[in-house]
Amino acid sequence: MLYEAGTARLTMGEIRERVSSLTGKSNLQLDRRLRSLRTFFLVPAVRDPHHRQRFTYALHGWQPDADQRTARKTIRASDRALTFHTYGYRCAACGRTPKDDHVKLVIDHKVPLELGGTNEADNLQPLCEEDNHAKQALFSDHEENTEALRASLSLPEAHLRIGELLKAMNGMEVPKELIALVAREENHGDPTKRMRELRALGWKIRNSRRKEGRRFLSFYRLDSWEPWPPGGPKAAIARMEHARKQARRLEAGTPNAPERET
Ligand SMILES: [Zn+2]
Repeated sequence: MLYEAGTARLTMGEIRERVSSLTGKSNLQLDRRLRSLRTFFLVPAVRDPHHRQRFTYALHGWQPDADQRTARKTIRASDRALTFHTYGYRCAACGRTPKDDHVKLVIDHKVPLELGGTNEADNLQPLCEEDNHAKQALFSDHEENTEALRASLSLPEAHLRIGELLKAMNGMEVPKELIALVAREENHGDPTKRMRELRALGWKIRNSRRKEGRRFLSFYRLDSWEPWPPGGPKAAIARMEHARKQARRLEAGTPNAPERET
């Protein structure tokens, strides 16, 4: 509205009238909308020199820090300190510390910025330089899969994110680290368990291992997949898990016995 009006100044009444005629609505909550506009745009109110109670509004452009309000451009010093503290000054991948192991820790984005990650604390972790380089190498190896990674990262469930990445990279070997990354779970999650669960949904996934340098690398390759179950994979897996436990209890003949550790 204000964008269309350009530099012409409009009163609240004129804005109300124009928006009403566009949307056919009369209850517009314009004050609230103006407040939310001002999060991102400069919308100054100017008092009409001839009418004390008359204000006009125009869109003057973006707030100078509008981008930081949606996505912080840099890491806050307090988030950096918090991240080191949260991880006990250890590398999130190998657990080594500067004190005991003389490694240098750097702040790493769990989900890289170019894949939609943010500079907020929940996306940060300390990594030793070696693990940081390994991660960078992992991404440069999969540069052609950036779009597939970005697409799978936007999905709401870990199984969907892993499954859709495997589908996008169908027939290719996907390193376990990449699976852990798209899973977006606490403490790297448990990719092996997620694979087991996808297999329980009928997916055919092959696992291979090999040694590269001093590291053992694990890869997954998708051979075939099943459509996602109604209600999503997480709910379907929970139902299967529940049915399995029930069956085990009946088998043991003690339906009320406490669950056995497995
Ligand atoms: Zn490390």
